Amino acid sequence: MRKKVIAGNWKMNNDVNGTVNLISEIKKELNAKSQKADIIVCPPFTNLETAYALVKDSTIKLGAQNMYFEESGAFTGEISPSMLKSTGCEFVILGHSERRTIFHETDQTINKKIKTAVKHGLKPIFCIGETLEEREKGITFKVIETQVRNGLEGLTQSELSDMIIAYEPVWAIGTGRNATPQQAQEVHQFIRGLVAKLYNQGFADQLVIQYGGSVKPDNAKELLSQPDIDGALVGGACLKADLFVKIIDAA
Ligand code: PEP
Repeated sequence: MRKKVIAGNWKMNNDVNGTVNLISEIKKELNAKSQKADIIVCPPFTNLETAYALVKDSTIKLGAQNMYFEESGAFTGEISPSMLKSTGCEFVILGHSERRTIFHETDQTINKKIKTAVKHGLKPIFCIGETLEEREKGITFKVIETQVRNGLEGLTQSELSDMIIAYEPVWAIGTGRNATPQQAQEVHQFIRGLVAKLYNQGFADQLVIQYGGSVKPDNAKELLSQPDIDGALVGGACLKADLFVKIIDAA
């Protein structure tokens, strides 16, 4: 049975002090119910070391929000996989829609990033999702299939054994408008079927597929009770310890 995984994407929020406060509060709020899910926090790069010192003796795992696909060199402003590893990072979010739209990342860039991440033992949280325009045109499945095929091109099952896929409809991110549990479930089921076709059923069955897009305590339970929804990637609500832990408890 797949364990639920709840990850918090802090985006560009919290300085070092804010990181200490938020993680300390999350740790205080966690209870016996929370321990049934895996928990990941993804603070900004500058706070990873601070965050690691606070989570290392807890059940909370650490992730980064991005990474460059080269290992080192003249890439001003970029962060390499080994730099992330050296801070204690276990996960890295790749292909978030804000990276795709604001920073023009393509499926090909994301594919290179996944390849470099897994080579260095980082576990990718690979984000995919359609825009509102694409959903209204009725091409959601086509868009998802293209993102999955291109993003995972050339990667083997063993390289991807620790990957998480996050289905995040772009129209639901930060908008307060979540996909209905049925809308999310049908895409998750499609993704699992596609992964079974590209790899095999056994791999697809154990793959964790998170939903992301305006997950809040009041909609988490219904979303997370869908058969193919194995967790949540949470933006806004992860910045408040009580809300984040309520979502974890719903899992
Ligand atoms: C996200 O940024 O991954 C996200 C899902 O944000 P929010 O929960 O705020 O919609």
